[in-house]
Amino acid sequence: MAILQVKGINKRFGGLQALGDVNLSVEENSVHAIIGPNGAGKSTLLNVLVGKLIPDSGSVMFDGQSVLGRKPHEINQLGISRVFQTPEIFGDLTVFENVMIPCFAKRDGAFKMNGIGDVKKEKDILEQAEAILDDVSMLDKRHMHSASLSRGDKRRLEMAMCLVQEPRLLLLDEPTAGMARADTNNTIDLLKEIHEKRDITMAIIEHDMHVVFSLAERITVLAQGTPLVEETPENIKGHPKVREAYLGE
Ligand code: ADP
Ligand code: MG
Repeated sequence: MAILQVKGINKRFGGLQALGDVNLSVEENSVHAIIGPNGAGKSTLLNVLVGKLIPDSGSVMFDGQSVLGRKPHEINQLGISRVFQTPEIFGDLTVFENVMIPCFAKRDGAFKMNGIGDVKKEKDILEQAEAILDDVSMLDKRHMHSASLSRGDKRRLEMAMCLVQEPRLLLLDEPTAGMARADTNNTIDLLKEIHEKRDITMAIIEHDMHVVFSLAERITVLAQGTPLVEETPENIKGHPKVREAYLGE
């Protein structure tokens, strides 16, 4: 069953057709990659999905509910989360304290931490934060100062903070852009672990083919704002339409 169904999306910026009749169907619990050359419209599509851009026409359904016309925070409440967009970890706090912030925000609607004495009594929050750190394999680093984490571990912490919201669909825009190989591989492992432990559907925009082929079950190729091919990774390799789309790069 498709958890996300995008139909006939068009978006123009002045004279430029950034998205032209985009259809996309993402199966529940799958990892779906959206690839394509620079300027293909990948980020524009993602911005439509999270409510940052309103398309000129088309429809977006998430789990049977219409997404278009909703504000970004409302779309987030439906269960769609964009990750790694703006790193929002607090370098001065420990890993554990960082994860407690969204736990408090979720329970109380606002963050309040009235001294460590009070926090120690918050058994449910402590347990929740611990379980999530376990899911991202960071329990052993819970007392570390967040600023001293490696880039890959900062991503793990950001993911932990995002998971507190219990998203059903994670949208990732080039999650490994600018990373060294070790941090890229760390992030691939992280996404695999999360996908396996939490059954979360993922839609990943990615340039790095190593990342795409390590993670994706389905791949949609976007070129000049229009989906060219939707296929499994095996069938994408060497696909003539895909090679054609990338020739101009
Ligand atoms: P991708 O993420 O695939 O590289 P984008 O979605 O960022 O591509 O951009 C698609 C096209 O739309 C590009 O030609 C880009 O220059 C243009 N574009 C994107 N955002 C805007 C905007 N806010 N205003 C005008 N043009 C835009
Ligand atoms: Mg982009």
